[in-house]
Amino acid sequence: MAPSITAASGLAARHFSVADSLARLAAVGLNAVVYLNRYDDGDDLHRRNRAWLADSDGLSVLTSISALVEWTLGRAPLHCGYCGKPVTECDSSCTRPLDLDRFCVRCGRRVVVSLSPVRHSARCKVHGTHCA
Ligand SMILES: [Zn+2]
Ligand SMILES: [Zn+2]
Repeated sequence: MAPSITAASGLAARHFSVADSLARLAAVGLNAVVYLNRYDDGDDLHRRNRAWLADSDGLSVLTSISALVEWTLGRAPLHCGYCGKPVTECDSSCTRPLDLDRFCVRCGRRVVVSLSPVRHSARCKVHGTHCA
């Protein structure tokens, strides 16, 4: 009985850490995914942990490197944040030190930039807020 209690505590502690980390990323407009390293679908504890994160919390949970690569490539910058051109057409001569992104790196549309003394952000009307 003691090992199952220990496992349950471990899951709770791990779950809190994951949820806390994702909440901090979401607070600054960053999307994140949970990757379960060395996931074994034949292990009941792994399956229940995955189901807990995905079903109870609605988190995106990945269990393979290929799925993680696809997820990452799907979010890679497609446009230059300074000039809005596709990244394959920009030679980075548009980059200026301390200047903010003025274009969405996903679609190349001009973004609305908000500045405050401690933070700045940019909002694309299609892709929402992301840190500039
Ligand atoms: Zn550029
Ligand atoms: Zn966009």
